Amino acid sequence: MQSFDELLVQAVARHGHLCAGQVIGVRMAMLGLHLLGIENPKAPDVYKTFLVYVEIDRCATDAIASVTGAQLGKRSLKFMDYGINAATFVSLKTGDAYRIISTESSREHVKEYARDETEKSRQQLIGYQNMPDELLFTVQRVSVKIPETDLPGSPRSQAVCIKCGQVVRDGREIETEYGVICAPCSDRSYFKVLDSISLEKRKRV
Ligand SMILES: [Zn+2]
Ligand SMILES: [Zn+2]
Repeated sequence: MQSFDELLVQAVARHGHLCAGQVIGVRMAMLGLHLLGIENPKAPDVYKTFLVYVEIDRCATDAIASVTGAQLGKRSLKFMDYGINAATFVSLKTGDAYRIISTESSREHVKEYARDETEKSRQQLIGYQNMPDELLFTVQRVSVKIPETDLPGSPRSQAVCIKCGQVVRDGREIETEYGVICAPCSDRSYFKVLDSISLEKRKRV
């Protein structure tokens, strides 16, 4: 495994700024990989052997993705929108899974571990770097039920929406009494179509 300092530099480059979330995220990912016994997560024979579930879309998530190499586009990074600063690291080889939660109480310990710092954001950066794992995190051994259709690799299934003809992959179609429909045609859609836009006259760049 690369050093914390090296991993932090890479995470900051990717995220765009140095923040407490990068420190916490790098440490969380390093601990998660360590618990799974993974030394080199981006190695060709390793990156397909584990999944990472993140539970919030904030700073630390980018650091976790940076350290682990887990990516949405590889189906190795899963976003569960819980609003909790936590992540679960799952081995696809053994089924072992560890959920690591950033403790609320760690905030109170920041000053103890950054005695030379007076400015608050510096205190956080240094404090979170120096604090022992047991103050920064709570760890649970968990079991994660991973549907076949959530796994990396080629799509497991394809269905066609009976309302609009859209092809839906990986079992994300919705069964109705009339047949299967896509999410946008259901009441689960996150958007409402206002208009279709013609792209014919648009110049290619
Ligand atoms: Zn940030
Ligand atoms: Zn549809």
